[in-house]
Amino acid sequence: MSGKITFTMIKPDAVKNGYTGKILDQIITNGFQIRGMKYLQLTEEKAGEFYAIHRERPFFKDLVSFMTSGPIVAAVLEKENAVADFRNLIGATDPSKAEPGTIRNLYAKSIDANAMHGSDSDENAAIEAAFFFSAFERY
Ligand code: UDP
Ligand code: MG
Repeated sequence: MSGKITFTMIKPDAVKNGYTGKILDQIITNGFQIRGMKYLQLTEEKAGEFYAIHRERPFFKDLVSFMTSGPIVAAVLEKENAVADFRNLIGATDPSKAEPGTIRNLYAKSIDANAMHGSDSDENAAIEAAFFFSAFERY
């Protein structure tokens, strides 16, 4: 049974480019309810911890530097089948491969500065939600 919670971040490029309102509107219009939301700038330590799974990848250093380059919006979203539906809404990691109308297709410029994060499994959604919101530890 698929879960009801996913975790997202509007990344520094999208916040800087003024897309926060449009992206939140698209998320809500597509049936997700915002259960927690924070505007903050990640430290290097926190960004490295969040993306620890990618520590050995060649892009890790640039990813941490990008994710700490400006404020983000972190949010916990609720919907039936939240993880898969949200991945569909944001589109492929590489925006040039993202379906038309997806958030990355509309608002992202490159595979590294790709506007949005979305959890890739129910298990990671729970871990990531708890990373930013202590109230979500129960998920
Ligand atoms: N990333 C990158 N270069 C790559 C692959 C990924 O800079 O070749 C960055 C990009 O910001 C991506 C993040 O690392 O969103 C996490 O990668 P992942 O493969 O988990 O993609 P996602 O789950 O975000 O689609
Ligand atoms: Mg991922």
